[in-house]
Amino acid sequence: MIVVMKIGAPETEVTRLSQEFTTWGLTPEKIVGKHKTVIGLVGDTVDLDPLQLQDMSVWIEQVLRVEKPFKRVSREYRHGEASEVTVPTPNATVTFSEHHPVVVVAGPCSVENEAMIIETAQRVKAAGAQFLRGGAYKPRTSPYAFQGHGESALELLAAARAASGLGIITEVMDTADLDRIAEVADVLQVGARNMQNFSLLKKVGAQDKPVLLKRGMSATIEEWLMAAEYILAAGNPNVILCERGIRTFDRQYARNTLDLAVIPVLRSLTHLPIMIDPSHGTGKAEYVPSMAMAAVAAGTDSLMIEVHPNPAKALSDGPQSLTPDRFDQLMQELAVIGHAVGRWQPPLVPSVSRL
Ligand code: PEP
Ligand code: MN
Repeated sequence: MIVVMKIGAPETEVTRLSQEFTTWGLTPEKIVGKHKTVIGLVGDTVDLDPLQLQDMSVWIEQVLRVEKPFKRVSREYRHGEASEVTVPTPNATVTFSEHHPVVVVAGPCSVENEAMIIETAQRVKAAGAQFLRGGAYKPRTSPYAFQGHGESALELLAAARAASGLGIITEVMDTADLDRIAEVADVLQVGARNMQNFSLLKKVGAQDKPVLLKRGMSATIEEWLMAAEYILAAGNPNVILCERGIRTFDRQYARNTLDLAVIPVLRSLTHLPIMIDPSHGTGKAEYVPSMAMAAVAAGTDSLMIEVHPNPAKALSDGPQSLTPDRFDQLMQELAVIGHAVGRWQPPLVPSVSRL
């Protein structure tokens, strides 16, 4: 249930109401929006009458019941306002949100060695990416496939961060590694295979770094949002939802079915920012640019693109990785669409010849 306060409602009134709700055994959460303050009520609210609650204060504008199973992640919980996941990186503070430019995350599937991660970081930075991605701990279908270099790769990510000024996104698979990864990562990735690893979700929810939650390969949108709800319920409001393709009946030509329809669907259901990963979504480098452009046109807040200096030699996900040159070209193609939808940084500068 949510209690929407009127514009200008005094802080003392919000506190008084929150204290009252606490005595009823509920957990009130104050959400200060751009225009209004909302009190989210978590707990057993079935017997409460919204009209009676409304009479508790002249400063209450409206009391609404959140009918969906997910509460904190629901759009209603913030009274329709999009949340902002703001991440300080060495070079800039980057915001993932509906009303900000599209954030681009790029880099190899796995961190392979120092030279390749530094080179990739510098190339994707020069092309306009804000974050470097790269796995130190890799979830692989086969136990015999490359599992990532683990802790030593974290040091290489730290070096790439220092060399490029980019923020770092890397995956955490095991709660035992969380603290060590969080020392290096600016955003923690929970991968598709761990989307419903509830102990991991509770742990990333109980720490401060923002979390990138990938959609499970067979997860419904509701299961995905309930997974995000675990992280928010544990105290971490900074979650980005990443669509990376789902399993369908057809895997003949594309690795997964990239569900771009989630962009408007999630927009209506949740306030959380949205990321699209066309690399895992299609599994083939040649399909990545068109899906990335479609995602920006459809209103994604962010993109994740796998880039490798030599995809043919990559230790994982080479077939879906763009070369740095192709990524550079893609960023120019994306800028055209990004500007058309008013979501691209830097702003268009008229060329000298047109002045
Ligand atoms: C990855 O980002 O390299 C990865 C393993 O992703 P997913 O969890 O979406 O398969
Ligand atoms: Mn990968």
